Amino acid sequence: MNSIHQKILIITAPSGAGKTSITHYLMRTFPVLAFSISAATRNARENEKNGVDYYFISEVDFKKKIQQKEFAEWEMVYEGKYYGTLKSELKRIWALGKVPVLDIDVKGALHVQQQYPENTLSIFIEPPSVEELKNRLLSRGTENEESLNVRVNKASYEIGFKEHFNEIIVNDDLEKACEKATVIVASFLQS
Ligand code: 5GP
Repeated sequence: MNSIHQKILIITAPSGAGKTSITHYLMRTFPVLAFSISAATRNARENEKNGVDYYFISEVDFKKKIQQKEFAEWEMVYEGKYYGTLKSELKRIWALGKVPVLDIDVKGALHVQQQYPENTLSIFIEPPSVEELKNRLLSRGTENEESLNVRVNKASYEIGFKEHFNEIIVNDDLEKACEKATVIVASFLQS
């Protein structure tokens, strides 16, 4: 079956590579896309809302959901912090006749791709360099020195997995990266 209801679009990248900007751009361009809201155990940042950016839940609740097999994928993305895509979230979006967009980490993306190989398009957003990524994270101002170093080290490791994804887009120029992503996603949605 080639139903749009079954499709999944994954945008993955190291933290700070620009995947959230590209994801938002794609959602403005293609109204059929809907952001898949992940469950997460970290605290909400000042500008974030529960049920919009994430479903912020406790670690106890998260672990219950793991046991009850409620996740399509989940990862401890950072030490002690769990993030996961709920199967119910994918179903909610498919039921609206839309295509879920997963803005998730590299390991989680690999797992979703393995589970739903037929109907998934995965795009890896590559930062121009690790140095540039560090500057972007610094200017975002959401990290302390320790969490910055954790994110930068993780990024170097994650870039090693880029060849596993369907498409790689180097984000050295956000506008051009968005244009490339648009062409790729348009063709996926039409297929
Ligand atoms: P942040 O804490 O900056 O919101 O997100 C940290 C990382 O977790 C980002 O790379 C983000 O894409 C990833 N992430 C968000 N939701 C999920 C999810 O449901 N599963 C996985 N595996 N990673 C996620």
